[in-house]
Amino acid sequence: MPARKPDALPLRLTLAVLLPLLLLVVLAVQGMRARTKAAWDEIEEEAKRAAPLIADLLAKELTQYVNEVPRFADPPAPGEPSSLDAILDGSDPVALNEIVRNRDAGNSPAGLPRRVLAVLRLIELNPDFAKTPEGERTEVAKLAIQCPSVLSPLLLDKLGSLADSAKSTWEETTTSLRLLEKHPQGGWISYGSAVPGEAHFWWLESHPDRIRFLADRDIAWAEIEISKQALGHKPRNCSTRLTLREAEPRSAEAPELMATAPVPLGQGLHLEVILGDREAVTRSIRQQEAWTLGFVALASLVSISGLWFILATLKRERKLNEMKSQFVASVSHELRAPVASIRLMADALEEGKLAPETAKEFHRLIAREGARLSTLVGNVLDHARIEQGRKVWKMEPTDLSALITDTLQVMQPLAAEKKISLTSRLETLETTLDVGAIQQALVNLLDNAIKFSAAGSAVTVELSKSDERRTCEIRVKDEGPGIPKVEQSRIFERFYRPGDELRRETQGTGIGLSLVKSIVEAHHGSVSVESEPGKGSCFILRLPLTP
Ligand code: ADP
Repeated sequence: MPARKPDALPLRLTLAVLLPLLLLVVLAVQGMRARTKAAWDEIEEEAKRAAPLIADLLAKELTQYVNEVPRFADPPAPGEPSSLDAILDGSDPVALNEIVRNRDAGNSPAGLPRRVLAVLRLIELNPDFAKTPEGERTEVAKLAIQCPSVLSPLLLDKLGSLADSAKSTWEETTTSLRLLEKHPQGGWISYGSAVPGEAHFWWLESHPDRIRFLADRDIAWAEIEISKQALGHKPRNCSTRLTLREAEPRSAEAPELMATAPVPLGQGLHLEVILGDREAVTRSIRQQEAWTLGFVALASLVSISGLWFILATLKRERKLNEMKSQFVASVSHELRAPVASIRLMADALEEGKLAPETAKEFHRLIAREGARLSTLVGNVLDHARIEQGRKVWKMEPTDLSALITDTLQVMQPLAAEKKISLTSRLETLETTLDVGAIQQALVNLLDNAIKFSAAGSAVTVELSKSDERRTCEIRVKDEGPGIPKVEQSRIFERFYRPGDELRRETQGTGIGLSLVKSIVEAHHGSVSVESEPGKGSCFILRLPLTP
């Protein structure tokens, strides 16, 4: 027999489900990557758009804090002598006041600002100077910065706490002067720390007659101010940072650096936009990924379960088809043998040359084979009718014990042929049933019992009633080979015949027991088997008793 080609359908189905799934997984992974990249790109793009805007705002803000101080020589350089010098001795307080207000008073021959000298003289002359209005004294304090000289600290000291803000500006002025000594070209100068972001820095612009500067304190204020203004411009999760850089920023240093822009105030100052909460960005991406993976896993689970279900159904269908073909083969075989022997015997009888005993025997055999054929055909037709729901049940009150006795009589010749004793223990009882169908069920059970039993053994039928459950039990017992436990649940399936078809010794089609089950269930009863290999079998029919 040629080897059967393995069916390609399950393989095709598996591929049809698994390949799209694989594609789905690949697409999901690619999609996740693309989304992650898009999220970063979006932040980077926003940062790049925002950086120059914030840098401009910052430059404008910083310009407001720029200080301008006239240059002065230390030690003082002699100034041009003037008539004003004579007034400085304090003889004319009104003229002294005029010098204080005179912006062009210039420096004395000793190189000191005449306005400051005049103020000091006025303080000296006026013991109630401390009582002059606060606004006036603050104006005087500003002179220390507007006309800087070695006298500035002295003047600020004399004014005491009133000059606090002017004092700190004077400190910044002296710091800027010190820085200018080291960096005469000016520009953005960092000091204090080598770590970018932590360094303090100043901005200095040096002119022949004055210096302009921005102190780091003012820069810090400007940054705070700008961070409020820049809120609308700043990308989500980002913060800004000012850095002083000689060259272009090195982005490789900080992976969280999203964008940079030069601050248009002097050279070398850059604004950096940094991703502040990297976690917040990755968290939302991770959440999206978890959802996507969850969806893919669910889709895979559903598809694989579906595939498993389809493959199992296919397998079951194929098995059923095999069993059906087997059934057709068995039925043909079962029909061919009796039909052939009936024809032969009928031909011989027709010729009329047979001895009377032989002719009698042929008649008996023809009757037996005919009965077998009618049982077989009856089984097949009833099976088909029940399967298609066309069977009409003729329920009528019947004496069940009498029905069993009749059936035993029908089966007697078959048992006798095999030298099998047919005995019965029957309680008399009556119930409603389809006589033909129940007899057909009994014939099948008895036929099996006789067929599978060895010659000389016994087959017993018992009928009893169980009052509590309002049922009756028909037990068909034999001393045959018995049925293994694993087969017991399957023998009631249609077309099922255990073992290898080629090595099977007994004839049959595999529908007998399934027909018995259908008939009994149509009567709202049940069928079961108690058996052990080597110890015979007992088939039990339970039928409800009608009141
Ligand atoms: P068939 O007898 O035509 O094969 P059945 O549906 O009547 O089909 O029985 C199914 C199978 O159950 C049989 O092939 C046989 O293996 C097993 N069987 C049924 N009755 C008996 C019995 N009395 N003793 C042992 N095996 C039995």
